[in-house]
Amino acid sequence: MGSRLLIIGAGPAGLAAAWSAAMQGAGVTIIEKMPSPGRKLLITGAGRCNISAAGDEDSFIRRYFSGGRFLYPAFTNFFREDLLEIMNSQGIRFKTESNGKIFPVSDQAEDILRAWLSLCAKLNVNIISGNGAIKLLIDDNKIRGISTRNGDIEADAVIIATGGASWPGTGSSGDGYKMAAACGHTIIKPRPALVPVTIKQKWLRELQGISLDQTHLQLTKNGKRIAAESGELLFTHFGLSGPAILRISRNLPDFSLQLQDTQANWQLKINLVSDKKHEDLINLWRGQIAKNQGRTIVNALSRPFPSKLTNELLKLAGIDPTIRAADISNAQLDNLAMTCRNLILDIEGTRGYREAMVTAGGISLKEIDPRTMQSKLVRGLYFAGEVMDIDGDTGGYNLQAAFSTGVLAGRHAAAD
Ligand SMILES: Cc1cc2nc3c(=O)[nH]c(=O)nc-3n(C[C@H](O)[C@H](O)[C@H](O)COP(=O)(O)OP(=O)(O)OC[C@H]3O[C@@H](n4cnc5c(N)ncnc54)[C@H](O)[C@@H]3O)c2cc1C
Repeated sequence: MGSRLLIIGAGPAGLAAAWSAAMQGAGVTIIEKMPSPGRKLLITGAGRCNISAAGDEDSFIRRYFSGGRFLYPAFTNFFREDLLEIMNSQGIRFKTESNGKIFPVSDQAEDILRAWLSLCAKLNVNIISGNGAIKLLIDDNKIRGISTRNGDIEADAVIIATGGASWPGTGSSGDGYKMAAACGHTIIKPRPALVPVTIKQKWLRELQGISLDQTHLQLTKNGKRIAAESGELLFTHFGLSGPAILRISRNLPDFSLQLQDTQANWQLKINLVSDKKHEDLINLWRGQIAKNQGRTIVNALSRPFPSKLTNELLKLAGIDPTIRAADISNAQLDNLAMTCRNLILDIEGTRGYREAMVTAGGISLKEIDPRTMQSKLVRGLYFAGEVMDIDGDTGGYNLQAAFSTGVLAGRHAAAD
């Protein structure tokens, strides 16, 4: 008889682990605390499921903010082509969009979930939904099973695949951190990541909907540079979003905890036009002013920003937006260009776990063997997916990491 494997969590990592272990002949049970599996998978890519990304393995690895190197063995064992092939076997076809993101042709995340459930069902994986794991049962540093809301279950091996703490309504509410910590694992401080940022300056709200595609951001804490990012920026009714903001957000603390870190002075210094030099900007404006001498300055400067943004920038630079274009001085134009290239905004917080696409931090990778996903502290205990200290960029990197680590953990846990 094969070994008895228990997997906690029926998300992408748990389902992939179950399939992989059952392929090796293990008897697999998944405990899922929500009434049905894969709730978060269903909302990925706005319901379209951006399952993976184009690019070679090295460039792929570089898109992880934490855990990139750790993922090499998991990717060597099971990478994008393997994932797409397994899905192909279930009748799913894929398309790669111009930005390298890979989606099912149907644009339905539901198809991906259905495929994994079908793969698991064919191998008699037992999925028990609506029952949460509460704690691990361990004897002499060897896993013996788990306690659930409905009693204890014995097992030869256990995989924790409970995800992070973001979008708690989908079931991922940080339980795995507590279970792992209780048996001695170090937890790198979890915090919302790939999350929009709220800004103190209220005038920003007027700019809702405006996006700029060539910006450079610097994040500072009490004046000290913490991180930098480039790319698209989006103004929203609460502050800022867009790819560059989402990427930089993992460097912010969990503001809901109101710790000392959250009381610090967090600021963003933004160059709104990183594709233009100071002189280029001045020359662009001079050309516009020459053609629109009699108009107000806010109406004359029609590029590179929409007038609502120009209006706010003029005010920040101490220039009355209603003065005649012809009346603006060289010093004022210079000042305006400086303002656009050094806009300083005060961070209030983030939109928190409710809107974070992933959780940065998690179970320390130092205590997990990357070749097997097994705990270095407890025999027979394995990890898969976002519960570990792994977080990647938007674009399919987080799902690929969940599937690849799941398959590797399942393969090795089946042998216990
Ligand atoms: C809105 C949104 C869109 C996203 N879009 C994309 C995308 O397009 N591409 C991409 O690569 N990534 C995307 N992500 C990230 C991606 O969804 C996650 O990284 C991925 O789902 C992690 O998989 P996982 O299996 O580790 O965890 P999860 O998907 O979080 O699954 C964990 C499972 O464990 C269960 N569980 C938790 N605690 C217990 C317990 N105590 N007992 C039993 N069960 C438990 C949960 O209910 C859940 O079903 C998105 C995330 C969000 C929030």
